[in-house]
Amino acid sequence: MATRTKEPVIPVTEIEHSAFCRTEDELPSKSLAEESKVNIRWQRIPTEYLHLSADELDARIHEARERLGDRVTVLGHHYQREEVIKYADFQGDSYLLSKNAASRPEADYIVFCGVHFMAETACILCAPHQKVILPNITAGCSMADMAPMDDVMDAWDDMQDVLGNHGGILPVAYMNTIAGLKSLCGRHGGIICTSSNAPAALKWAYERGERVLFLPDQHLGRNTGLKLGLSLDDMVVWNPFKPLGGNTPEKLRKAKMVLWQGHCSVHTRFTVKQIETARERYPDIKVIAHPECVMEVVQAADMNGSTEFIRKTINEAPAGSKWAVGTEISLVNRLAKQNPDKTIFCLDPVVCPCSTMYRIHPAYLSWVLDGLLEGEVVNRITVDDETQRYSRIALERMLEVV
Ligand code: SF4
Repeated sequence: MATRTKEPVIPVTEIEHSAFCRTEDELPSKSLAEESKVNIRWQRIPTEYLHLSADELDARIHEARERLGDRVTVLGHHYQREEVIKYADFQGDSYLLSKNAASRPEADYIVFCGVHFMAETACILCAPHQKVILPNITAGCSMADMAPMDDVMDAWDDMQDVLGNHGGILPVAYMNTIAGLKSLCGRHGGIICTSSNAPAALKWAYERGERVLFLPDQHLGRNTGLKLGLSLDDMVVWNPFKPLGGNTPEKLRKAKMVLWQGHCSVHTRFTVKQIETARERYPDIKVIAHPECVMEVVQAADMNGSTEFIRKTINEAPAGSKWAVGTEISLVNRLAKQNPDKTIFCLDPVVCPCSTMYRIHPAYLSWVLDGLLEGEVVNRITVDDETQRYSRIALERMLEVV
């Protein structure tokens, strides 16, 4: 049995996740020199970019985009700050954006304004000649960091020991994982899911195996399991810092779903108390939450669903409707701006953007585009051939179920 007792290591991005939390409603960008006073990891870039004003950066980015033409595609995740997403050719969630990138084979360069696992996924799905660039290499994801390859492989070996190799357990990984885990799913009969198709992906898995290891977000796994009719007793949590994940062999054999002990630092900030406060303030409010929120919040909300579901629901809601939203603040602010005839606000009164997405400052975008103009590809994200091959298998299985 490979399990060993380890010292808990909190991913750096988790420690840093509240770095940009503030109480004002707006999050306007400042110069990079100003922003980098926040005590987190920042990738060093040439000094000239640190002091450029918003207008100077805007002019440089526009000029670079014009000169690069169709050779570059810029992708912007919904959680990206306003001053960056405005340059995106495509806006969307991580999977949609990777598909968008694949639909532009004329673009030699894909600049992904998102986080590291998203750039990896684009790299897996895009054409071999395309190069994927992440403007700031420190833009990771605290949730993806919570399931590092070594810990998952240790856990996987232990589960094989207890449950047996054949049909004992299938891995189902959320899109928000490192490429190595997507490839683990491809190798071992598993599948990838997004927050939109998690129920369909789990049904697919249960048609092929008795149990599922759901990685890395315990909340999405638990909320989806409950939606499919599993009970809390059917699920166990795997804590990578404890022998056998903190479980007994009997508990594991009895479980239908093993939930990796990971979470999103942004979505776990929402609470039932915040929902109660919103309802006291506006008795006719609708509460809509992302399934990465904790079970109690998802159950107390009027509805829950993926980022795309939240956008569509609010955009199509009647004028005058009121919405308290449990998801990332940059998206909530954008929805409020795009729907001035509705009342839309974030459940959490403290404005807390995803701290890793927020690291894509316009200065980094300008820097990587200027690099391309000079023939230099900076911050290229690559995935080795074998990992790509098995990851694609798991992603193709996902496509079968949507
Ligand atoms: S919102 Fe959460 S899951 Fe999404 S990139 Fe940020 S930390 Fe990761």
